[in-house]
Amino acid sequence: MTTFWSEELETMSPQVLHQRQLAAFTDLVRTAAGSSSFYGDLLDRSDLERPFDDLVDVAERIPALRKDDIMRLQRADPPYGGLLAVPEERIVRHYVYPAGQVLAWTAGDQRSFEEQFAMGLFASGLRSDDRVNLTFQFGWVAAGTIWDAACRHLGAATSPGGAGESARQALNMRLLRTTAIIGFATFIERIAEAAEEQGIDPASDLDLRTILIVGEWHGSDAKTSLAERFGGAAVREAYGTGEAGLVAAECEADAAAMHVHPDVMLEVRDEHTGDLVQDGSGGELYLTRLGIEGMPFLRYRTGDLTEFVRADPCACGRTTARIGRIVGRAGELLRVKGVFLSEQLIRSVLDDVDRRLGRFVMTVDRPSGQDHLLLQVEGAGRVPDGTAAQAARRLQERGAVAVEVVLTTAEELPRSEKWFIDARAG
Ligand SMILES: [Zn+2]
Repeated sequence: MTTFWSEELETMSPQVLHQRQLAAFTDLVRTAAGSSSFYGDLLDRSDLERPFDDLVDVAERIPALRKDDIMRLQRADPPYGGLLAVPEERIVRHYVYPAGQVLAWTAGDQRSFEEQFAMGLFASGLRSDDRVNLTFQFGWVAAGTIWDAACRHLGAATSPGGAGESARQALNMRLLRTTAIIGFATFIERIAEAAEEQGIDPASDLDLRTILIVGEWHGSDAKTSLAERFGGAAVREAYGTGEAGLVAAECEADAAAMHVHPDVMLEVRDEHTGDLVQDGSGGELYLTRLGIEGMPFLRYRTGDLTEFVRADPCACGRTTARIGRIVGRAGELLRVKGVFLSEQLIRSVLDDVDRRLGRFVMTVDRPSGQDHLLLQVEGAGRVPDGTAAQAARRLQERGAVAVEVVLTTAEELPRSEKWFIDARAG
């Protein structure tokens, strides 16, 4: 049986792995500075003779790169934007994303990314006897083809179901006795609905034992609801980006977290200050996929926020760091007392309390050294007495923070482009 469990890399002491990553990062930076015109201009090569000591040193010497930067470079100098670090003839694969971003891989990169995805699949419990339906897009973007290759490395049988056609997906999954599905949580929910519409009970007429959800934000209850709908299938989660591959995947022992791949150098930083967060806290993900030849991205700043990062050993035996669920985008979430609040969470709580509650604005300030949250909601005169108190109780339960809720009229609601106003000093 083919296995994608790397005893050496996945159970290495975190300190040894960290040193190994810093050495690989030093190599990658030197190659990028020597071979890509963008990094050649950006970095001072005399400054790269000394290896990197730690992640503080890394951040001091190497600027992070955002998706906007990549897009700007590639628009100005298409198709690669000066990011290519090998001669063009060594590229064997191009991808083009809807916004126009181009990725270019060498044969070595292709193999390396396929194995990275296969390792995540193995951690999530997929095996060579699985029959896997892939419900991602196959055209132009990496998703469909890379998952397909990774499943076949495991020895599993794939069906390229592709995106869309939920009714056909349900019928064909029954026909093939599909045991695993990979896709967006919302689309897999839609397949369950389409199955029911055709008289197929997703819990008893399908053979799914693993559902791997990837690629979009979802509520904390999405996994439970999918497991119920599909008759107790194990619902696992993975996180990836085109720039860094399959960054993290959930193992069979910890349903709340995902193991970070050993070839990804991860930095979790406060989305405002850029400081590394403490173990157990959440923040923005900065990723460097090590060992890449074609188009290295140094310190890719994703804008994605994770609930937490932790380094304690896992019951599965892996010693690699674990990150929590991706809760949203930097700039769109409000961090209060270590908890991230989202517009969707507030909206869903208000809708549960009373659908007549309208627009809202959350204001956070720090009047006496403690964060204070005020939620102003349109609804004065429209809903019964006690609605505000009820909303505050539900927010405490769902968001784990105390919020003062005040009902206002439409005119009284503060004007704000965002759903929140952060009035804390500093
Ligand atoms: Zn684990």
